[in-house]
Amino acid sequence: MSATDRRSFLARSAALAAVPAVAALAGSTPAHADTGTDTLPDYAPIPPSALGPAVNAQGYFVGRVRKNLYWVTDGTYQAAFLTTRDGVVLFDAPPSIGQNLKRAIDEITAANGVSNKVTHIVYSHHHADHLGASSLFGRHVTRIGHAENKRLLLRDNDPTRPAPDVTFEDRYTLRVGGERVELAWHGTNHTPDNIYIHFPGHDTLMLVDLNLPGWAPFDTFNINEDVPGSIAAPAKAMAYPWKTFIGGHMGRLGTRADMVVYQQYVDDLIDNIKKALVAVDPTPFFVKYGNNSWAAVKAYQAAQVEYASAPVIKKYTGVLAAVDVYTDSTTFLILESVRLDLGIGSQVHD
Ligand SMILES: [Zn+2]
Repeated sequence: MSATDRRSFLARSAALAAVPAVAALAGSTPAHADTGTDTLPDYAPIPPSALGPAVNAQGYFVGRVRKNLYWVTDGTYQAAFLTTRDGVVLFDAPPSIGQNLKRAIDEITAANGVSNKVTHIVYSHHHADHLGASSLFGRHVTRIGHAENKRLLLRDNDPTRPAPDVTFEDRYTLRVGGERVELAWHGTNHTPDNIYIHFPGHDTLMLVDLNLPGWAPFDTFNINEDVPGSIAAPAKAMAYPWKTFIGGHMGRLGTRADMVVYQQYVDDLIDNIKKALVAVDPTPFFVKYGNNSWAAVKAYQAAQVEYASAPVIKKYTGVLAAVDVYTDSTTFLILESVRLDLGIGSQVHD
């Protein structure tokens, strides 16, 4: 097998191993299809640059980010952990990685001759797909999150995600076993409680569910709750000094260059949405559907989305993975925000 063949084989293996995790992301188990796959749409190939290292037989990869900071992935989700002289600090606990988090921690701590005892779990945000394995680490762990994270987890009342014991409003410096991690909240974005996790001694920033390095955002702009806040987040991330980025998703780590590409992708969508709000003529849709206002609006907005997203999909195919899968739904949500939050394209009736 040539190096190139081997690389593409490993990339395919990683993608296949990620299937159960992808199903978890979508909140379902794979259906026992009684129909063939011929009716399913085809998409552009995934650029090899979007893929990370192959996962092992248990379905995970664990690697060093820098020094004693490590990351774990199942190809779709990511967590991180810091080994210290007083135990391990875990950052997120995605249920799709689940027990493999413990295997990864045991593997690394045994190899380095340090304690494998998880003493702290830092929560990026309250979503179950990033925290649902928290309860596996028992009750005698100090959980840390934003004050809003605690409120949301008490609301959700999910035994797999115990609410944090330690909360903060704006900033919190976590000191464990001679290590320092800076946690900060810089306003709502993906969720109201999503925080910036900076590892100043490791040149690394963790910020989950905004930029998924190498990939277009998940459905509907990552289902971001605050669209303007999410659009503003990458610049806040770039204001920190770091070289490596942990985005919480997919199979590889990110760089500052990945963040620049992601910002450009979102900026291009916004520019094209502003053009679409002016360029697409609503008349034919309202003529066609008469008093069925929703049918007319749906068709009109679909035409605006198509107008705005088509050039962006073309520009980023081969650059970001799956731009042809989710750019339309992301465009729709950003279009609604440009219209409703920015007020562009909403004229006063005279
Ligand atoms: Zn989330």
